[in-house]
Amino acid sequence: MRKTAEKIAAQVSGIVRTDEVLSRHTSFKIGGPADLFVEPLTMTELVTVLSTLRQEEIPLYLLGSGTNLLVSDAGYRGAVVRLAGEFKQFVYGDCCVESGAAVPLARLASESSQRGLAGLDFAAGIPGTVGGALVMNAGAHGSAISDVLTEALILDEKLSLHSLAAGDLGLSYRKSNITSGSVVCRVKLRLSQGKREVELKKCGQHLRFRREHQPLQPNAGSIFKNPPHDSAGRLIEAAGLKGRRVGGAMISELHANFIVNCGNASAADVWFLLEMAREEVAKQFGVNLELEIRLLGY
Ligand SMILES: Cc1cc2nc3c(=O)[nH]c(=O)nc-3n(C[C@H](O)[C@H](O)[C@H](O)COP(=O)(O)OP(=O)(O)OC[C@H]3O[C@@H](n4cnc5c(N)ncnc54)[C@H](O)[C@@H]3O)c2cc1C
Repeated sequence: MRKTAEKIAAQVSGIVRTDEVLSRHTSFKIGGPADLFVEPLTMTELVTVLSTLRQEEIPLYLLGSGTNLLVSDAGYRGAVVRLAGEFKQFVYGDCCVESGAAVPLARLASESSQRGLAGLDFAAGIPGTVGGALVMNAGAHGSAISDVLTEALILDEKLSLHSLAAGDLGLSYRKSNITSGSVVCRVKLRLSQGKREVELKKCGQHLRFRREHQPLQPNAGSIFKNPPHDSAGRLIEAAGLKGRRVGGAMISELHANFIVNCGNASAADVWFLLEMAREEVAKQFGVNLELEIRLLGY
């Protein structure tokens, strides 16, 4: 891996590291080392890195901000690629914004409301990047990124670039058809003219709601998707698991669909708790909870 790292370091101007501990890059603050960690800064660098990884048959994982991710304690035997540089740029047009995939979604929500543009207030306070938001079809308060997306520029596994319309991406509740070898590079979002004070007020209300209903300790957002017409948090709480602790991980006392890292949680602690929640909810209520978080290194 050291030789590949040296080869890639000569190809990219961003970070190239071996044995990078992924707990530094996840909101859970959990996760073992990745063999290789690379930050391409331009589209050319990205394509070069991916083609080197393909030639060397090294598995690839695209990381956003790691806010919906559980990385195993053993880490990942492959290369983690995180976009930076030009992928962190965005530009506003007439009631629209074109954004690189590494821009924080919440940054766009705040910037849009400052400009009096409506449509992205739901994203105020949703952590993570625009790319991660598209893959997860992130949303809140009854809206999701699918409601504002017009098109996305995707680099596929064969390293061909495609400009895809929102309707081609299979976007539904916390779901898309973007495969794990593909890279979201840029997106275009459609906004509408609103009033600055109204948009700022809506964002403020969403942020307050988060502060009141979501835990402060490191976490990865909702562990499970909500089943139809119910909420995973309600079911886990009704199963008597709120506050249940295993090692350094705990089912949040504030919101039972969040598992929090109380300081020294391992991925194994989190896994134990989420399996417990899944089994108890199935046993007591006959509901099979589906994971919302993504897994790496399992
Ligand atoms: C406190 C907290 C609150 C949250 N609240 C919400 C909420 O209200 N609504 C909601 O929907 N989510 C919420 N989340 C979950 C999370 O913020 C979202 O899913 C977010 O969109 C993930 O973005 P990310 O950049 O962190 O992606 P990551 O967690 O890094 O990755 C998620 C998936 O996207 C893929 N991916 C990331 N970037 C790219 C790319 N450029 N190209 C291809 N694949 C890529 C990864 O491979 C992975 O499969 C919350 C999380 C936390 C910690």
